[in-house]
Amino acid sequence: MRVILLGTPGGGKGTQAKLICEYFDIPHISTGDIFRGKIKEGTAEGKEISEYTGKGQLVPDRLTIALVEERLKKDDCKKGFLLDGFPRDEKQAQALDEIMNKKNEQINFVFLIDVPKEIIVDRILGRRVCPKCGESYHIKYNPPKVPGNCDVCGTALIHRADDQEEIILDRLAIYNQTTAPILEFYEKKGILHKIKGDGGIQDIFAQISEILKKA
Ligand SMILES: [Zn+2]
Repeated sequence: MRVILLGTPGGGKGTQAKLICEYFDIPHISTGDIFRGKIKEGTAEGKEISEYTGKGQLVPDRLTIALVEERLKKDDCKKGFLLDGFPRDEKQAQALDEIMNKKNEQINFVFLIDVPKEIIVDRILGRRVCPKCGESYHIKYNPPKVPGNCDVCGTALIHRADDQEEIILDRLAIYNQTTAPILEFYEKKGILHKIKGDGGIQDIFAQISEILKKA
């Protein structure tokens, strides 16, 4: 199964991506991870990526699309995959279509985790992340075992500087603007599933897995 997971930042998309990939045994392909990997390898691509991300800019489509295509060619994607963070706009959605056509494959499911604005603000304000391993927590909904410290590596958790209400609302508005055409694109193909994202982690996962199990 080839799945795209869409959802507003802070809407619990990362957590769902992990659950889906574990349960259905498919690789989790996130552009964020690909970029971090390239930067770590110190390749020319990695250097170019860090020039953009260092300035808070988006990595250009040309590079992003090429890296996604390269990743999708790996053997572990033969049984399917879950894309997270890609496509982020209509142009990328079309590029993904071309990649799939070349491989004689199709995306089977697109999920949008639809979460009300107030809930997203609440989730992001309470979010704490581990600066070392990247694991994320929520002070109310997903607290670490030892308050303030990462369960995985023990590092002190941080509240990211841009996790503030005004910045969150700005990010949401931009996200909705760029995502609307992607939703339309996949709705026309008949593969878009809107998931109510105001429930708990397990409730959201149950809605998604029920649809995937029918496949
Ligand atoms: Zn950690």
